[in-house]
Amino acid sequence: MVKSNRASQWQWRRSAFWAGVWVLGTLTLWASLTWVERGSIQQAQRDANESLRVQAGALTGLLDRFRSLPPILARQEDIGRLFTPQSDTTVLRDKITELAYLAGAADVALYRQDGGYITSARGLYAQDLNSQDATAELLRAPAESRLGRATLIEGDQARYYAFSALVGGVTNPVGVLVFFVDLSTVEQVWALSRLPIGVTDERGRVILSNVPEWRGRLLSDFARRKPNTIDLRFEGERYAAQEATRALPLLDWRLHAFGISPDLKLDQKLALLFSALITVSLAMGGLLFLRRREQLLATERKERADALRLERLVQRRTRDLHASNRSLQQEIEVRTETERKLLKAQEEVVRSAKLAAIGQMSATLSHEYNQPLATIGTYAENAERFLERGHVDRVQSNLSLIRQQVDRMAALSRTLLTFARKSDPEVRPVSLRAIFDDAVLLVSPRARKAGVQLDVQAVPAECWVMGSQIRLTQVLVNLANNAIDAASVQRDAWVRIEVQSHTEHHAVRVIDNGPGIPLEQRAAIFEPFFTTKPAGVGLGIGLSVVADIVHEVGGEIHITDAPGGGAQFELILRKAAPNP
Ligand code: ADP
Repeated sequence: MVKSNRASQWQWRRSAFWAGVWVLGTLTLWASLTWVERGSIQQAQRDANESLRVQAGALTGLLDRFRSLPPILARQEDIGRLFTPQSDTTVLRDKITELAYLAGAADVALYRQDGGYITSARGLYAQDLNSQDATAELLRAPAESRLGRATLIEGDQARYYAFSALVGGVTNPVGVLVFFVDLSTVEQVWALSRLPIGVTDERGRVILSNVPEWRGRLLSDFARRKPNTIDLRFEGERYAAQEATRALPLLDWRLHAFGISPDLKLDQKLALLFSALITVSLAMGGLLFLRRREQLLATERKERADALRLERLVQRRTRDLHASNRSLQQEIEVRTETERKLLKAQEEVVRSAKLAAIGQMSATLSHEYNQPLATIGTYAENAERFLERGHVDRVQSNLSLIRQQVDRMAALSRTLLTFARKSDPEVRPVSLRAIFDDAVLLVSPRARKAGVQLDVQAVPAECWVMGSQIRLTQVLVNLANNAIDAASVQRDAWVRIEVQSHTEHHAVRVIDNGPGIPLEQRAAIFEPFFTTKPAGVGLGIGLSVVADIVHEVGGEIHITDAPGGGAQFELILRKAAPNP
């Protein structure tokens, strides 16, 4: 649904785009056509103005040249003398032929005061001046002290302009002198111009032109005025033209110069091409822009979708992480609880191991207590007898012997009690000598009973290690008991306990001359409940407790072969500063 909406939106945008391109193309075409047209109109107008300026000069120059000649010549006395009644017309004609030649006029003619023809250089107008309206002016104007002027047109071949003056002046008039100017000489000059030029009279008729077909016709027949342009016709073609016009002073004529607009068809093609090029470029640009925009939008949408997906993923992962964190927390709690229970159980095991050791030792210990008790009994009997006999000094020595035996029993009992007590797991500096003393006190009865010689090295008083006194005593007791058990099968059984100091630690070795420990058993020997002893004799927890305690105090334990073939347990205990 969303997709189809988007598609129709794009469709709409594309249609709008093409409509825009069409409008733009039309506007560009219109603008370029207008621009070209205006350019060509301006060019034609410039040409017309220029043509008018130049060609008007040719006409006015020609007329100006002859305008002043008749009045000047008419005042000459020898001209006046020509009008005497005796004058010979042949002489007269020669004179004015010379004049015409010198002035470059088409003709020079003489008329009587009443307008009657006398003679002329070339016979252009060999008739009375009064015979035509136009020429009557040549007679009338000088009589009113004006310059006589007239246009003589006969068909489109002969077109002349005439200037007249009164010979003898107004006071003493004798005749009329007329100069004829051939207007076609102007047309010859104009013929050099490629642009059409025409002079019209007050009725709009063409008097002069470099376009022969216009002559004598109305200019409006060939030049139709339209808005902005003139539809001009000459030499069988039609042209779009511009006009420059000027009134000619004194003549009542109007000079028209035309500028032809360049061939619009080629320009139109160029304009079309130009606008097509602009439109196509703009359309391409627009299309590229649209594409780019479309791509950008698509990329943006994709990025937004990716970001959203990523955000969801992160949220899901965070949720999962929270869940796993919670379960981890629960697991930690369970583990902590289990560890606590384990510690408690371990403590129980240690205690059980101790009790087991005490149990094993109890038979020996009861024997150990019986012996001093018997000795005390004997010393007490002796003391009674010596008292009866009055040997007080002997009584005293027996009592002191009794006292020694009691002290020994008390010491053993104290050690046992301490050993059985719940031990403090805290690791602190403890005297190695005290540990040795307690352990030896506890195991020596058993060694004696088993017939094993216990050889214990004296420990220097400064030998202190890191640990707990009761726990390390338990370690030594366990190792020594095992060694006694192992060695007891030999004939010359012995167990040696020794200590060696190093820079960082003290090495305590329990060596026996028993059968030793096979290599394959050494990895399993510290496992709980591993025992080679018959049921009821061994529990298999002694060495596992030893390994735990050694680990607890930051020490190590190694098994090697004793030099004599028995087992050797070496304890590595961290050195501690003596703490009296
Ligand atoms: P238990 O003494 O109750 O069997 P222990 O953990 O103290 O339990 O000892 C495990 C086993 O290790 C013993 O059964 C014995 O086979 C062996 N062992 C311990 N010490 C020695 C030793 N010094 N010589 C030979 N074997 C020994």
